[in-house]
Amino acid sequence: MTSQNIIEISGVEKRFGTFVAVRDLNLELKEGEFFSLLGPSGCGKTTALRMIAGFQDHDAGTIRIAGQEMAHIPANKRPTNMVFQSYAIFPHLNVGDNVAFGLRKLNLSKAEIKERVAEALEMVELGGLQSRKADELSGGQRQRVALARALVMRPKVLLLDEPLSALDKNLREAMQLEMRRLQQKLGITFVMVTHDQYEAMTMSDRIGVMFAGKLEQVDRPEVLYSRPCNRRVASFIGGMNFLDARLTADNGQSVNVDLQGFGPLTIEVNPNALARSPDLLAGIRPEQLEISATQPPGYDACLQGNVSDIAFYGESVHYYVRADGVEEPISVAVPNYFHTVDHKRGDRVWLGVQNASVIDLGAREA
Ligand code: ATP
Repeated sequence: MTSQNIIEISGVEKRFGTFVAVRDLNLELKEGEFFSLLGPSGCGKTTALRMIAGFQDHDAGTIRIAGQEMAHIPANKRPTNMVFQSYAIFPHLNVGDNVAFGLRKLNLSKAEIKERVAEALEMVELGGLQSRKADELSGGQRQRVALARALVMRPKVLLLDEPLSALDKNLREAMQLEMRRLQQKLGITFVMVTHDQYEAMTMSDRIGVMFAGKLEQVDRPEVLYSRPCNRRVASFIGGMNFLDARLTADNGQSVNVDLQGFGPLTIEVNPNALARSPDLLAGIRPEQLEISATQPPGYDACLQGNVSDIAFYGESVHYYVRADGVEEPISVAVPNYFHTVDHKRGDRVWLGVQNASVIDLGAREA
């Protein structure tokens, strides 16, 4: 193994009866990275995490952690610890006893336990709250106790299964930043499972996107956003308009296409696209389109259509435009700098796009 890889997973498969929950999983995680497994419900991400933790055995392949093959190593002997969705903290115990729970099996002196509990509580900014009853804590504090209880064991890898899903939106967003800060401070590898794309994007160094048991793309959040490998990944990470594009010339690094509704454009070849074909699929993020009552100047291509729906999100306005020659309405996101909604339902509008905003998603059926 290379010195920076803390986890190396190779050809791992998990079946439940004849159902394949995880297929041919290959993944290398670096020491000190925040990695998220992202995907819809049932895609196999929790099963993958549980195999790393040792709560679930695997049917094929190898899992190595810190250079050691894990096949016959039970969960409690692995250099990992897990934080569960439900926190699983004991309401009748105080904070200190909750955090000390795992340590009690380690044959440590009372003084040592006390010191490590205090240290773990400091890490999660709950210093001095040892004697507080767990059921007197807020949701955010409980989540931090659960983190402290895992960190007190000094794992090399912290595994987190939807750790923030029980919290309300505002608290969840605050905790996302806090957990990211904590991870950076401690330098421990975090592996988190989530179905929330925003959570994965705000917290992670890299994200693995899973569908139906298969890891489809592993990349930094901004690469997943700008260069997704196919339609599934593109639509799971942020909003995306999909348009058919017919290849008219291949220039190596770029291709000329005839883009549905917009006409001729030259777009960069996406190295992540899984399969190539003359029948391409192209994607345009809603915020990359210009909407205007008159033809907007300076764009590489334009089309016309009618506003069919408007959604006001506060910080942005989304217009849905039924364009000539395109079946699905095209969504356009406009930052709401001036607190105005400029177009009404039924208005005739122009949409403008630049070559660089059109993403090559490879063969249409990939
Ligand atoms: P969720 O976000 O809903 O937890 P997930 O992506 O984490 O979903 P898993 O829990 O890993 O998905 O489950 C993957 C698939 O394997 C699902 O179809 C699930 O029903 C199935 N599965 C998981 N555990 C078992 C089990 N013990 N026995 C049979 N099938 C299982």
